[in-house]
Amino acid sequence: MAELDEAKIAEIVGRVMQRVLPQAQATAPAATKEPYCAPAPPRYSPPSGPAVHGGRRMGVFDDMDAAVAAAHVAFEQYEAASLEVRYAVVAAMRACGHRELEKISHDAVAETGLGRYEHKLNKNRLVIDKTPGPEILRPQAWSGDHGLMLTERAPYGVIGAITPTTNPTETIICNAIGMLAGGNAVVFNVHPGAKGVSNYLVERLNEAIVAAGGPANLICSMASPTIESAQALMHHPGIRLLVVTGGPGVVKAAMNSGKRAIAAGPGNPPVVVDETADLDRAAQGIINGGSLDNCIVCVAEKEIICVSDVADRLKKLLVAKGAYEVKGQHVQRLQKLVVAEDGLHPNKDWVGKDASKILDAIGISAPSAQMIFVEGDEDSPFVQGELLMPVLGFVRVPTAEDAIAMAKRVEHGFGHTAAMYSTNIDNLHAMARSINTSIFTKNAPTYAGLGLGGEGYTSFTIASPTGEGLTNAVHFTRERRCTLVDSFRIV
Ligand code: NAD
Repeated sequence: MAELDEAKIAEIVGRVMQRVLPQAQATAPAATKEPYCAPAPPRYSPPSGPAVHGGRRMGVFDDMDAAVAAAHVAFEQYEAASLEVRYAVVAAMRACGHRELEKISHDAVAETGLGRYEHKLNKNRLVIDKTPGPEILRPQAWSGDHGLMLTERAPYGVIGAITPTTNPTETIICNAIGMLAGGNAVVFNVHPGAKGVSNYLVERLNEAIVAAGGPANLICSMASPTIESAQALMHHPGIRLLVVTGGPGVVKAAMNSGKRAIAAGPGNPPVVVDETADLDRAAQGIINGGSLDNCIVCVAEKEIICVSDVADRLKKLLVAKGAYEVKGQHVQRLQKLVVAEDGLHPNKDWVGKDASKILDAIGISAPSAQMIFVEGDEDSPFVQGELLMPVLGFVRVPTAEDAIAMAKRVEHGFGHTAAMYSTNIDNLHAMARSINTSIFTKNAPTYAGLGLGGEGYTSFTIASPTGEGLTNAVHFTRERRCTLVDSFRIV
């Protein structure tokens, strides 16, 4: 018997669904479309007209109104379809991601100039395989003398999503799987600097969804996204929920939009190493994490805080394993090159660049360097700023207690991500409680908290400002309760 791989299964399911979907749409009783125990939320009515179905390329539109209207048409069809269609749609998106993996990873680096191809492969593969699908939406039942109460997760409708340049395709795949798993449609306003690869992916995902029996335009995007089109999305009456992933500007804009918003913002993840740590493990973990995609990932380690007793040994191991320590006169040159004049933000020209290229530019030849570190004090821009490049500050402090306190300060209250290497359970416990971040990894790179080499599902929209943490389909759905009085308790 021929082997069935995921792509083949998606294709077969797709063919079956194409036959089943029209019937499902035709036979879906009106009563199942609206809750009978609560009034329906107000619905946006897309304007009628030829633009509703028209995108030059599937899902990619020139105009925000047209994109939102098309997504609404898709949502209405999707809502009427069976859960089997949802599962097929999500399987098809995963299969599409695998088919396109190499191209999108390559094109993201080529278009944005950020990160590393081999790391993009890993990041994209992670979201394709480990973003939860509809299975995460578990209905809950509560029964008692008064009968049965059931809660289920219902879609919002059309979600507006804004994506970053640092993980352009990863965020689209992750958001789209989660949002469509929840029964929604989505309109993306992608980062203008990544629109080529992002819109290419939107088209391929739509094709895969249609081939699997889903409606066209479940995923829409703007051909030429701008800040203005992002604003239009944020204030569009057809958008029920906003999900934004990016820096402080977009987070603030979303939270001030007057709409319900899930906001995933910046971080400045500290990694603490105390005197009890397995230093070999710490050095390797810090290099692996701090160099991941040239440190543009929001969770990637951005500064090292080490207890003095072991600081020199840790530095030696970092260098032995492929990091480069910049010292002396080179520190000023490095700072002038990669830090903006405000001393807090990066010089954008160097964001996401290879460590060896950065070193080259300050006259140091170290072609195999994976990561750079610079020792300084707490005020150093290499410690304070989210530089988004493989250049980490290094600070030594007297005790683990001091390190934990400093980590909290330099994380700036983002509540995003942190790590600690220690074998002292009390110290690990103290930092876990104090740092109060969405992700905290112990004795591992922070990416383990994304499920890469660690347990659990993944997400590339880690919503710390609004509190959802690693977002998934649960957050892209609203809870609905249905109560049946005096019946259906079976014991
Ligand atoms: P960015 O803030 O420059 O852009 C992100 C997106 O927001 C883009 O699509 C951009 O066009 C849009 N945008 C920016 N300002 C806006 C405004 N005022 N109104 C409407 N839209 C606006 O960020 P970036 O350089 O693409 O990504 C890097 C930043 O994103 C870092 O700070 C990083 O930590 C953060 N990030 C966070 C997560 C997370 O899950 N928390 C994930 C990825 C990136």
